[in-house]
Amino acid sequence: MQKKNKLQDLREYYLSPSLSLSYEEPINIVKGEAQYLYDENGKKYLDAINNIQHVGHCHPKIIEAAHFQSKKLNTNTRYLDKTIINYAKALTAKLPDSLNICFFTNSGSESNDLALRIARNYINSSETIVLDGAYHGHLTSLIEISPYKYNSTGGKGCPDYVHAVPMPDSFRGKYKGNNSGEKYFNELKKITKSTKKKFGKPCTFIAESIMGCGGQIVPPKEFFKKSYHLIKKEGGLCIADEVQVGFGRLGENFWGFELHNVTPDIVTLGKSIGNGHPLSVVVTNKKIADRFNNGMEYFNSFGGNPVSCAIGHAVLNVIEEEKLQENACKVGNLLKNMLTELKQRHSIIGDVRGEGLFLGVELVKCQKKLVPTINKTHYIINQMKKEGILLSSDGPDHNVIKIKPPMVFNSRNASFLVETMDAVLKKM
Ligand code: PMP
Repeated sequence: MQKKNKLQDLREYYLSPSLSLSYEEPINIVKGEAQYLYDENGKKYLDAINNIQHVGHCHPKIIEAAHFQSKKLNTNTRYLDKTIINYAKALTAKLPDSLNICFFTNSGSESNDLALRIARNYINSSETIVLDGAYHGHLTSLIEISPYKYNSTGGKGCPDYVHAVPMPDSFRGKYKGNNSGEKYFNELKKITKSTKKKFGKPCTFIAESIMGCGGQIVPPKEFFKKSYHLIKKEGGLCIADEVQVGFGRLGENFWGFELHNVTPDIVTLGKSIGNGHPLSVVVTNKKIADRFNNGMEYFNSFGGNPVSCAIGHAVLNVIEEEKLQENACKVGNLLKNMLTELKQRHSIIGDVRGEGLFLGVELVKCQKKLVPTINKTHYIINQMKKEGILLSSDGPDHNVIKIKPPMVFNSRNASFLVETMDAVLKKM
């Protein structure tokens, strides 16, 4: 057992005990730069997990934008202000034409909570369809729609207005294989029909295009296309939670939902949008936004303030200037190919999946039986950290290594990660 240092003692004294630390031997990070982090002893770590610092830790242009706008003005959204308009214009230009009305918030959770309110107001129904294993945030309303939480330790189970489709995991889920999309869709169809029959109400369907906390699950082809079509046909609404997968991370596409050729009614953005600054946004269409304007005003003390908007706008510019979406595509493909090759040599690797710089490596006892190996996953993550690479694990069985680095991650970083993982696996 590692001896605790003073900082850890103080943290335990002052901070909530329900907040865990990463790694068996926690690290005191004192500096960040691009895709690297440095601890108090000057040890350098390759950050392969922090998707919030999207364009890189402490990017000079983001700091400059924050500094410049902070010196000039920071206030709330009840005044006319160019900063918020310019940003809303630039952001919605990246989205399908129908999605052009923004609500500014301060976290992914706030965005999802507001998106649910907007949707439920529009369809006059609280019936909500989610994917099993999904996480959508820490607010009370979101724990209630997050099987990742309500089915886990301390959770209170599924509320009666929430309906979970089996996790569309074609590797180890209820239905396997690339053609399982139709089968998962049939599960959603059953829920939609029974909800309509029982309560006469349509549903809001909220999902990530690739499930993050669920374990980097890429739903099989056709699942989203058919599900969106049905939900909308029955008078419901579709929310795409882009908190983890948006802003070019998936390489080929700027938004996760584009991977499935669907157009959501509402999108929720967070995490990477502000490169670590607490900024988030809900975007929807005019019709839905107008119905939400029912007399109860939406005001948010911090959401959409000029400093946040200047930062968000700078993030968009840097993604473009540094061609980070293209980089995610190129380096992501290379990394995925190298990991797939590693899978041939280590039977503990059951699956390598994902898109761009949003990848998952699922570890199993053996490739035939697909039994998850939790302790070994934990061990590998801690060994990789010792070797100077930061990763984490997730999924219902905590046996999926997640890779979602800052978007400046390069091919040398990818080789270093795979070579180090190879060496760690060989030693096991
Ligand atoms: N949606 C998804 C898909 C997330 O992964 C998270 C956070 N991990 C959230 C929403 C909540 O975001 P936040 O922590 O900013 O409230």
